[in-house]
Amino acid sequence: MLSSATKSQISYSQRLAKPPPGYVRLSFDQGIQYPCRMILRCLLILAVAWLAFSKIGYAQLPSSSPAAQTSASLNPVQATKAWLATVPADQRAKSNAYFEGGYWLLLWNFLVGVAIAIFLLASKFSAQLRDFAERVTGSKALQVAIYAPVYIFIVAVLSFPLAFYQFFIREHQYGFATQTFGPWFLEQLIGLIVGLTAGTIALSILYAVFRRAARNWWIWGTLVAVVLSFFGNFIAPVFVEPLFNTYKPLTDPTIRDSILAMAQANQIPVKQVFEVDASRQTTRVSANVAGLLGTTRIALNDNLLKQCTLPEIRAVMAHEMGHYVLNHGAKLTVYFGVVALFGFAIARFFFDWALRIWGERWDVRGISDPAGLPLLMLIFVTFTFLMAPVLNSIVRVTEREADQFGINTSREPDGEARVALKLGAYRKLDPTPLEEFIFFDHPSGRARIQMGMEWKAAHLPCPNLDAPEPATD
Ligand SMILES: [Zn+2]
Repeated sequence: MLSSATKSQISYSQRLAKPPPGYVRLSFDQGIQYPCRMILRCLLILAVAWLAFSKIGYAQLPSSSPAAQTSASLNPVQATKAWLATVPADQRAKSNAYFEGGYWLLLWNFLVGVAIAIFLLASKFSAQLRDFAERVTGSKALQVAIYAPVYIFIVAVLSFPLAFYQFFIREHQYGFATQTFGPWFLEQLIGLIVGLTAGTIALSILYAVFRRAARNWWIWGTLVAVVLSFFGNFIAPVFVEPLFNTYKPLTDPTIRDSILAMAQANQIPVKQVFEVDASRQTTRVSANVAGLLGTTRIALNDNLLKQCTLPEIRAVMAHEMGHYVLNHGAKLTVYFGVVALFGFAIARFFFDWALRIWGERWDVRGISDPAGLPLLMLIFVTFTFLMAPVLNSIVRVTEREADQFGINTSREPDGEARVALKLGAYRKLDPTPLEEFIFFDHPSGRARIQMGMEWKAAHLPCPNLDAPEPATD
């Protein structure tokens, strides 16, 4: 939505990125000043505590667990090393290079976002666009509806060279992309149309709120952003994804029934499994369980079917079911909502601060003036960039939960290990703890394999599932 500003500012596919931290000074006005500071302090403390706990939980997992030690035959740490050693050095070097290149792309995207925002403000392009909208119509709402699509389009054009490198050239260099330029570019255009539509609606709603809540716009803005992203997350799988890929029922009974059995055992209300033709765009393996209120859908991509064995497929699908059963969609909305509130609070401070200094030069009148949108984006892009470790850690912790759920459901520790190695084609397998903390939105391959090996070493008992039930007469 509004805040997907990190990647290409209108990126339709990325998880919503919300604005990030630092300190907040007392200069909020009037009566909200004190409560505000308190809320922000609490949020900061919560965030730090969260991170500390996630690190501790992670650090304690390893082989010292008593259960693992009673299992004489398997040492999880040694077993993890052995799995990792099966990856040839050249493959490891390639995947490390790909993933580490992503660290730099994070920086380049941030700098491009900042440069575009400053350019639109300093050149007064943004103010002139607002003036144009004001000449066309006297309606404030329509002025935003005129300003927003032009702004989104300009940002898309200016950030296209980097997007082209990142998502086309680089993906081909590493052998992950399967599309030629024509079809790829066509999909970018479709994505742009979706972005223009969704972005214009979102910004119209947001500015309507800004006009009515001149002082508390940051609180209402957060609420709108959270509600919009929640709907966006449910609308996207149903209305947006079919624009790019085709979903059809999976027919192979061995795979389908094995997946449905795990779903049934976990109260997931589905009768079919879908296969999506992701190989149109990429060689990557993936799957998802999406939906709400009767629209629940389990889908896996054709790369997963082609490249993986049944135990590996079961490990992946059980992980996806974990996201569903553990309500990760709703939980992440709440977590990101908290981060967004923090971001909007910071935006409120820096927006006013910047206007006091440059407002006249940029000809931006205030928060309800759409000409200030690039400034708001500048703040959000910076916040999101600085908060990347926090956002990644929030997602990584939920991914780890899904892994835990998945391994208990699939009971495929070796399948888990093999899939982790396959995902290692584009995610560094054995990063340093600091790297994992800052850059990983999923556990690393090493962490996942070790989790599988811990589980395997624990030798959980399996009851006799065929024992007769109590008789009823
Ligand atoms: Zn996941």
